[in-house]
Amino acid sequence: MKAIRVHAFGGPEVLKLEDIADPKAGPGDVVVRVRAAGVNPVDAYMHTGTYARKPPLPYTPGFDGAGDVESAGADVKGFAKGDRVYIAGPGNTISGAGTYAERAICIPSQLHRLPARTSYAQGAALGVPYCTAYRALFQRARAVAGETVLVHGATGGVGIATVELAHARGLTVIGTGGTDAGLAAVREHGADVVVSHRAVNYADDIMRATGGRGADVIIEMAAHINLDRDLSMLARFGRIVVVGNRGKTEIDARGAMGRDAAILGMTLFNVTDAEFVEIHAGLIAGLANGTLNPVAGREMPLAEAARAHTTVMEPGALGKIVLTV
Ligand code: NAP
Repeated sequence: MKAIRVHAFGGPEVLKLEDIADPKAGPGDVVVRVRAAGVNPVDAYMHTGTYARKPPLPYTPGFDGAGDVESAGADVKGFAKGDRVYIAGPGNTISGAGTYAERAICIPSQLHRLPARTSYAQGAALGVPYCTAYRALFQRARAVAGETVLVHGATGGVGIATVELAHARGLTVIGTGGTDAGLAAVREHGADVVVSHRAVNYADDIMRATGGRGADVIIEMAAHINLDRDLSMLARFGRIVVVGNRGKTEIDARGAMGRDAAILGMTLFNVTDAEFVEIHAGLIAGLANGTLNPVAGREMPLAEAARAHTTVMEPGALGKIVLTV
């Protein structure tokens, strides 16, 4: 089968398209014919070899994907040949056999039904981004209907997911982005107010949009740039969830003190199995009732994985980058 393989850590050029043997599945495994694979920033961090988690070399990248069940082992219950599924969960990449391939071996807990109305590309946009968004909003910030959330970096994979989930739950949503096209998508997917984070005084727009109160919850994609300013845009008893961070920053902790504010970290690697059950139940309900419509803004063939990894680290996000397989 065709697969992207990484034999040595380095820049995007280490991602090579190769012909390798089909994976061998055990009795508890499901073989998925992957049709689309989601590209996440974490995939781009991992091939450098500097990320906290290192897969064994050589490895095939990719946490997320969608496709059809090709075969299910004798011990597998609940999945059969032909089922449309999305793949989510760290199993593949950590074991070195990710979704950037024609076939992926999965354990049943990594697989979830893909409704007929959801395309494979949309299915590949679900795993890391939507689980992160759900985790940040509801399990870390405990956001509830009637509150206001600032999605700081709303145009990318996690951002659009956060906007959709918050809108569906009855929050007022403010989303930021760096391009007109990105902001148009954010508005279309449920934001009540959109603001460019490239404008000099955009914090003033956000304060105006909240009637001077600030946001109850901030989901932050670039804490190394924004954390101190976030404190000035936060309501009393507000919560900031640090989702993305690429360096050190300085904050005035008085901004947290005066508001009884909480700065909460999160990583998807800490989510328990029981919490994932809650998350996917929420996502599947949202896909079925039409409130969740993932955006696969850029589709590229599998052979262009290296270009996709360069693009995912550049500004100008438009939902997910997806590799078609
Ligand atoms: P993505 O699709 O590449 O999107 C990046 C987002 O960051 C875009 O909306 C981008 O907006 C925005 N951004 C750029 N400059 C910004 C600024 N100065 N202020 C606010 N936002 C800014 O990435 P993603 O998949 O959504 O992930 C977002 C971040 O979260 C990444 O750093 C990723 O590594 C991290 N992440 C963490 C976890 C976790 O478990 N903690 C899970 C998933 C992702 P424009 O391009 O429109 O400027």
